This record gives sequence, C-alpha cells and structure tokens, in this order.
Amino acid sequence: MATTISLLALVAVFGTLSYQRASLAAFTGAFFVALAAVSYFGDISLAIWIIAAVIAIPLNITSVRQGYLSKPILNGFRKIMPEMSQTETEALEAGTTWWDADLFSGKPNWEKLHNVPTPTLTAEERAFLDGPVEEACRMADEFEITHKRADLPPELWEFLKTKGFFAMIIKKKYGGLEFSALAQSTVLQKLSGSSAVMASTVGVPNSLGPGELLQHYGTKEQQDYYLPRLAAGDEIPCFALTSPEAGSDAGAIPDFGIVCKGEFEGKEVLGMKLTWNKRYITLAPVATVLGLAVKLRDPEGLLGDKEDIGITCALIPTDIPGVQTGRRHFPLNLPFQNGPTIGNEVFVPLDYIIGGQEMAGQGWRMLVECLSVGRGITLPSCSAGAVKMAALGMGSYTAIRRQFKTPLGKMEGIEEPLARIGGNAYLMGAASSLTTSAIDLGEKPSVITALVKMHLTDRAQKCAIDAMDISGGKGICLGPNNASGRGYQAAPVAITVEGANILTRNLIIYGQGAIRCHPFVLAELNAAALNDDRKALQDFDSALFGHIGFAMSNFFRSFTMGITNGKGSAAPFKDETAQYYQQMNRLSANLAFLSDVAMGVLGGSLKRKERVSARLGDILSQLYLSSATLKRFEDEGRQQDDLPFVHWALQDSLYTAEHAIDEVLRNFPNRFVGIALRAMVLPVGTRLVRPTDKLDHKVATILQKPSAARSRLATDMYLTEEEGNPVGLQEKALRDIIVAEPIFTRICKEDGVRRPFIYLDRVADVALAAKQITAEEAELLKVAEEGRLRTINVDDFAPEDLAADKSLVNQLNQDWRDRANAAPKAKKQVKAKKEVA
Ligand SMILES: Cc1cc2nc3c(=O)[nH]c(=O)nc-3n(C[C@H](O)[C@H](O)[C@H](O)COP(=O)(O)OP(=O)(O)OC[C@H]3O[C@@H](n4cnc5c(N)ncnc54)[C@H](O)[C@@H]3O)c2cc1C
Repeated sequence: MATTISLLALVAVFGTLSYQRASLAAFTGAFFVALAAVSYFGDISLAIWIIAAVIAIPLNITSVRQGYLSKPILNGFRKIMPEMSQTETEALEAGTTWWDADLFSGKPNWEKLHNVPTPTLTAEERAFLDGPVEEACRMADEFEITHKRADLPPELWEFLKTKGFFAMIIKKKYGGLEFSALAQSTVLQKLSGSSAVMASTVGVPNSLGPGELLQHYGTKEQQDYYLPRLAAGDEIPCFALTSPEAGSDAGAIPDFGIVCKGEFEGKEVLGMKLTWNKRYITLAPVATVLGLAVKLRDPEGLLGDKEDIGITCALIPTDIPGVQTGRRHFPLNLPFQNGPTIGNEVFVPLDYIIGGQEMAGQGWRMLVECLSVGRGITLPSCSAGAVKMAALGMGSYTAIRRQFKTPLGKMEGIEEPLARIGGNAYLMGAASSLTTSAIDLGEKPSVITALVKMHLTDRAQKCAIDAMDISGGKGICLGPNNASGRGYQAAPVAITVEGANILTRNLIIYGQGAIRCHPFVLAELNAAALNDDRKALQDFDSALFGHIGFAMSNFFRSFTMGITNGKGSAAPFKDETAQYYQQMNRLSANLAFLSDVAMGVLGGSLKRKERVSARLGDILSQLYLSSATLKRFEDEGRQQDDLPFVHWALQDSLYTAEHAIDEVLRNFPNRFVGIALRAMVLPVGTRLVRPTDKLDHKVATILQKPSAARSRLATDMYLTEEEGNPVGLQEKALRDIIVAEPIFTRICKEDGVRRPFIYLDRVADVALAAKQITAEEAELLKVAEEGRLRTINVDDFAPEDLAADKSLVNQLNQDWRDRANAAPKAKKQVKAKKEVA
C-alpha cells in the first residue's frame, strides 16, 4: 500500500511538471527532489532510483543524448520524412503564423489575444463608409443588376471607379486609398448587404489580382505605370489562373509560355509566346489588363540553363492582338462580370512578367503569399455582411409576419434557425474583425485566412438556407422586394472561389496548420533537410526533445482537463465567460496531443487521410472562431445584453470542436490507437452540448425587437430606411408595428374579439368612427399596415418582363393563347365522343 501511494505521488509530480512544461533540467532536478522526499517518507525501491538515473543522466548530457538518441532517430526520420512538391513547399513557406500557433500549442496565452489592439477605423475610412459606400448601396438596385441588365449600371461602374473602390489596397502615393484591412472588410460587409454583384465586383481588384501583385513584386516601371491607372479606375484588372483542366489543382495549369525572340511594336525583343485557355475569370469580360499565370519554358536556353522555369505571372493588356476576352459565364443568376479568356501564341516582351525577368518562375510563391491576405478579407467579409443583414432582416420579418394569429418569431420551430442566424452574425463579425487585426499588424496568417474563408462562407451558406426556410414564399419569389433569394444563390460562389471549401477543409487548414503552427515539427523537418550533419543533429536534437516534452505535457493536460472539463485552468476573466476559456484550454491540449499521435502513427500518410485531417482542422478552426468571439465581447466593453449571442456562438463552436474530436477517435485508421486515445482525451466522455432551446429563444427574441444589442449586431450595415432597401424599410415597419400593436390590442379588448393582425387600416377607420381611438392613433395603425403589407407582399411581373430573350415573348404569348383556345375544343371533342358512344 505504502509503495502504491509513493508511486502515485511520483506520477503526480511527474504529471504536474509535464503539465506545467518544466524545462528538462528543471524537470530532472524537481523530480529527483520529489524522489528523495518520497523515499524518505514513503517506500521506494532502489530499482526506481536506478531506472530514473538511467533515463535522466543520458538525457541531461548533451553529447550522450545527441549521439545515442537523437542521431539514430534523425537517421530514421530522414528515411520516412514526407516528400513535398515544390508547390507544397512554397505554400508552406508563404505567410506567417499568429494566434493560430497559440491555439495549437495546447496552452493558449489569453493575455496575448486580449492585448491585440481593438480595431478602429480612421476618420478618413469612416467618412468613406458613411459617404461613398452609403451612396453606392443606394445606387445599387440589385434586381435591376441581376435580372434586367446582368451588369452594374454604367453610372455605378463610374462611381465605383472614380471614388476609388477598386483601389482600397493601392498605396496613397499612387493615388489609391491605402485602407486598412479592417476598413476594406467593413466596406465589403456593407456593400454585400446591398448587392452581392457589387460586392464581388469591388472585392476582386482588392483581393488577389494585379494591384496586389504589382505592389509586392512589380518593377518600379510597372508600379509607376499601372498603379496610378488602377487607382484612378483607368484600368480594370482581372487575374487568370484557373483553366478547364486545372481548377483546385491550380499548380497543374497546362497554359504555357515559350521564351523566344520576336517582334513587338516594330522592334525585335526577347519575349515569350503565351498560349492559354482560362475560365471562370472574374472581371475578364471587361478587363483592360489581364494578370495571367502560365508555365514558362526556355527550350533555347535564352535565359540560362534551366528549361522548365515554372509558373510565371505576367500582365497582358487585353487590347494586344490575339488576347480573347469578352464572353461571359453566368454564375448562378448573379451576373457579375466573369468569363473565359483565350490566347494562342500571343507574343509579349519579357518585361510583361510581374517583377520582370528575375521573377520568372516565382509565380506560385507570389500567388500563395498574396492569397494568404486577400483570402482573409474579401469572402469572409462578404459572408459576415450578408449574415448580419439576414439577422436583422429575418428578425424584423418574423416579428411582422404572422400565421395562426402569432408572429412567426414566437414559434419554437422558427426560433431554432433564427437563433442560428443571430449567433452566427455575432461570431462571423468577430472572426472578420480578429483576422483583419492580424493583417493590419503586418501578419500574413495563411492558416487563419484559409480557415476563416472556409468556415465563414460555410456558415453563411447555412444561414442563407435558414433565411430561405424562415421566409417561405417571400424568399423564393425574386424581385426588388426580396432580400434573401440572391444571398442564397450567391453562397455557392463564395464556397467555390479562392480555394474550394472541401479542398480547403480537407487539405489546407490542417495540412498547413499542423506543420506551421506546431512549435517543433517544422523545425524537425528543416533540421532533417540540412546538409551540414553537425548542425542538423544539433537543431534536430533541440526540436526533438522540445517535442517530447510538449507531447508529454499535452497528454497530461488532455487527460486531467478531460476529467475536469478544463475547470481550474487559466482564464483571464472570472465571469460567465471563464468556462469557455477553460474549455478551450482543454480542447487546445486535445488538439496538440491528437496531432502528435496522428503524425506519429500515420506519418506522411496523414496527408492522404483527408477526413482525419479535416476534423483536426475543424478543432483548430472552431477554437479560432470561439476566441474571436471572446475578443469581440471584450473589445466592445463586455456588453451584458450581448451575452446570449456570445453564449450561443461559443456553445455552438466548442460543441462542434468536441464533436470533431469524437469523430477523429471513432474513425481513427488504427482502431486500437483510437480506443486508447479516447481513454486519454475523453476519459469521461464528451462534455459539451449545443445551445439549448432556452438560449435559442433568448437570441431569437433579441432579433425581433429594436435594442442596442440588436443594433450592435449590424453596426455599419446599409440599413437606411429608403426606397430600394427592403431590409431598411422592414426596420421602419417593425418600429411602426410595435407602436401600433397596443392600440390594436386595446380596440380588440374593448370589442371583445381576438382579431387577426391584418386590415389595420380598416380597423383604424371603424375604431375612429366609433371614437375608440384618436386620429393620430388611426394614422399610426395605417402607417403600420402599409409597412406590414410591404413586408409580406412579393413581387409579380408581366410575363414578358421575365423572359430573358425578348424576341421570344410574342411567340410564347401566342403559344399560350393557342393552348387556351385549344382547351375548350378538346372538352367539346370528348363530349362529342361520349355522345357517339
Ligand atoms: C464565379 C467564379 C469566379 C471565379 N473567379 C476566378 C478568378 O477570378 N480567377 C481564377 O483564376 N479563378 C477563378 N475561379 C476559379 C475557382 O478558383 C475554381 O473554381 C476553384 O479553384 C475550383 O476549381 P473547379 O471549379 O474546377 O473545381 P474542381 O477542381 O473540379 O473541384 C470540384 C470539387 O472537388 C473538391 N476537391 C478537389 N480536390 C480535392 C481534394 N484533393 N480533396 C478533397 N476535395 C477536393 C473541390 O473542393 C470541389 O468541391 C472562379 C470560379 C467561379 C465559379
């Protein structure tokens, strides 16, 4: 018994030292002090001392440790090291890690998160948002754009160009706006609440495209020529990477360029003959300058001895003979300018390469580096904006629309999707804001931008489906009064572009995250790749033993916090949010521990086990979204009224993270390891639950009534109450109805009838005549009725207004008339036949 207690005491000391991540020297010292104490007071055999000494002494003598442990492991590691293609290596090396590395560490430093400065717009950015952005939202008639013109109207194009919408990322010295990432995001969120087509049109030149590439890699001449022209809107850019044969696998483009001499503008110059067939290129049909990615070859050795130079990005004016643009694709009834471009042996000088001749072959690196920024702004912001608008739009709609004499929003079944939209609106705003903070701090957080792109577009799609389900026929019937149908159509576009979501979730987030965010794996890989064996051994030894300590610590942290659900672990606040920080401490340790085991057991094949990788990535992603939510809550002054949103967002994402752990364990390729891991990571089973019905009710209730919390949810959105803005007008209708309802209820009570809340204008007339209400009250009822009808009514059209090909309208109408005329005749014929019979 005494021996058992002594051994348990030693295990506890070992566990505590691991949990606290003591250094090897401190660990050894403290452990031997504990061993001495336990031997003195308890019962420890000499064998334990011998085992401890045999392990500890070689570990603490560097030359012995390196020579007898690290060296053979390094040799073995070199043999099984996963092979990486050039494009994978470049993708891995692009960008930086930031808060994602903390979440991956098993021990996030919450102080670091909360020390990130609270994001704020400059006075100039604020003025732009309240001025030109508000005006652009007013000018964009989404139904006219999507249905009648299949384009933005010319005056809106002109407005966007001249006010600098396409130059938000371009530096002031070139005439651009040089806005912060936060400002770009806020502008795009507001635009997307008004028109998805306009937001896409503005998003692309400010994301990955010629502007971004030129600023980072362009030669001085290229920058001086193009950037002022792009800033002034004199050039419309696009960027063409995707081709019919290479979509997700963009590195496999078959488009090529051959270095050769040729004649250009009357002179013989060194150049390249380009052949390409690209599709899906946003803005290509109207572009004046085409950013083009091709694989460059130099068969004649004109540039050196390398024949396959690699992916190269060039800027091609679209008026050069042979450049074909102009035709359009039709992306899901959201006709932003998008189309194919083709070129066959188009000769251009080598200085058309972005960055000039020396950047030939550097295209892939350029693209992944730039993508890591733009991907975190454009699509996540458009998604967040759309969901914020849906939260207010669906909130007001469900408060106004009644069935069974009850507002839709009071029905439990509606509360569920409504709460999902509300909770997501808070979380998505938070995630956009934290991500743009990172970018504004100079980071290029490639893992974070991939995960926010994937998860925010995914959540937006789910919210768009929820909004459609809630609004029923009102969402289905397109027209100027429909605020949800186009968002529903837009969702798959955002899912597919800038890294299609399935691929991003299964390959990119964790694939890059595990190597980049892990504190030791990249160091081990780099060390193993070194040619200098001495240096390789030193670096590998330091990374390896850091790694072992890290894994041991995460094992103990996972196990103990699995029992306590993180209770007692570090949390920067002692209020109702403390539980979430503590649960995240636990989930972070789980992620780190599971990652080490998965990498250890599966090795290079983890890359091919996409579903394991996707779920591990989900844990990281949900931790990021959760921490962004807590950061927002703090940045906005810990508004108590916002707590239902905070609770909803945290409970939803942490539940999803834990569910991902459960699924990793259930589907772990090695069943035995899966079962053993479950005992270590979920020793008492899963602990977290989805948001309760009661919490859904609280969130749904906030959305249905004006309040500060509700307004904060949609700060800086286009909610102006004016013609052409159905959500803005619905806000007014909601307020009017809230004022009118008590008057209506009073009349019903006096009459002793429970009337449906319709015909408020007629009720007003009758009640006024009966002197039950004043003239002002009658007016309030009438105004409310007007808003109510505008909210619930849908658009209808003359048949010819819906036909895209007007030349067919007359023919179609004639066909219908013929069928109508034929119908009674058919009946007569049947009757005649019967009579004959
Ligand atoms: C409206 C629109 C605008 C666009 N704008 C541009 C632009 O301006 N410039 C440009 O260059 N390109 C643009 N694109 C192209 C876009 O980036 C590609 O559509 C995207 O990369 C996916 O390629 P794909 O459509 O060929 O799908 P595919 O590559 O055929 O993929 C189909 C599905 O398979 C999944 N998948 C593929 N590989 C894997 C894997 N290894 N594991 C798991 N799942 C996988 C994908 O996630 C996707 O769900 C645009 C596309 C659209 C639709």
